Amino acid sequence: MEKQLSQIMPVDLINLSKIEIIIELEKLGLNNKQAKMRSSQLWNWLYVNGVTDFDLMSNIAKPFRLELKEHFYINRPKLISEQISKDGTRKWLFRFFDENNPLVAPVDVETVYIPEKTRGTLCVSSQVGCTLTCSFCHTGTQKLVRNLSAGEIISQVLMAKDLLGDFPNQKRPNNGLIPNENIRAITNIVMMGMGEPLYNFDNVKQALLIISDGDGLALSKRRITLSTSGVVPKIKPAGEEIGVMLAISLHAVRDDLRNELIPINKKWPIADLLEACRTYPSLSNARRITFEYVMLKGVNDSDADAKELVRLLANIPSKINLIPFNIWENSPYECSDWETIERFGDIVNRAGYASPIRTPRGRDIDAACGQLKSKSERVKRDKK
Ligand code: SAH
Ligand code: SF4
Repeated sequence: MEKQLSQIMPVDLINLSKIEIIIELEKLGLNNKQAKMRSSQLWNWLYVNGVTDFDLMSNIAKPFRLELKEHFYINRPKLISEQISKDGTRKWLFRFFDENNPLVAPVDVETVYIPEKTRGTLCVSSQVGCTLTCSFCHTGTQKLVRNLSAGEIISQVLMAKDLLGDFPNQKRPNNGLIPNENIRAITNIVMMGMGEPLYNFDNVKQALLIISDGDGLALSKRRITLSTSGVVPKIKPAGEEIGVMLAISLHAVRDDLRNELIPINKKWPIADLLEACRTYPSLSNARRITFEYVMLKGVNDSDADAKELVRLLANIPSKINLIPFNIWENSPYECSDWETIERFGDIVNRAGYASPIRTPRGRDIDAACGQLKSKSERVKRDKK
């Protein structure tokens, strides 16, 4: 009989869905009922308690813990650095390296935490670098190094929870900038870090389904937002199979300009993108799509642009998020003047969109939208 994966080399539990854990346990000889029971115990330790050591799993007897250790492990990245902004935003650099699986290239990944009075948002990366080359985005200047695995996406949340003291019986760091003990430190997740999540669909799907699982981390799908530059064919599957909130990086109302800012627009122009939005599964006034619009001085910030934006979105249940452009070294654009952003915001506001301007956070530590760029480089294959 073919040898099972977990019998040949140990498997990282954080990559597996509940069902996959059950299957792995059955391969070890447990019957279905035992495997289900053990998998929910494991799930609870992994995601409710954030445990990485099998010896802490007190409701599992020692001999079985030893067996689990032989076949499974629980990998976490190494914390390389933590920067804390004046406004409380935190940026972490995590190094993913799996000593059990040395074929997977080690990578550095940035994750950002944005605390507000009544909520805390974690901005999670889906790839290292990006295949796309949006002209205003720092990540876009870095080639794709690789996709992150589901486990690496989930681990950003688990690490952040650990660092914020967000697991039971942990202490919050004592600087008053994290929401108080009565609410969770992480209440919302945005897939707005490095990378295009819909170009890493399977891993992002697996990760978000685990993150939203009610028996584990239990983040509601309504509090998880996936942002895409407009990978049109994947929008409907995202709605049907993942079911989280959607954000679209629109940034321009004319194809000629959008082609320049977001080259993928040449493949899927604005009309196709908006059609995919109009038919996004479970779209309603209570579940609107967020349209992101970065404010670039003299490029896309005229009154006519604002009016066209409102017109384009008229029949889509939507929110508009105006993002002041965050500059980075040698970036080819400037941020629109504040009066221009306000005037643009007023036009959008008068059309019925509430508080559309996004306050930039963590600019002093380069943690704001589009500023992330890890030091990981793709290893050159030809050694000439
Ligand atoms: N790849 C996805 C998600 C990551 S980018 C996407 O493009 O949607 C998250 C958001 O930050 C996107 O709306 C992106 O357009 C925006 N962004 C990128 N660079 C920016 C910058 N320099 N200033 C402000 N927003 C930026
Ligand atoms: Fe990639 Fe999004 Fe940046 Fe475009 S804006 S380069 S899709 S991360």
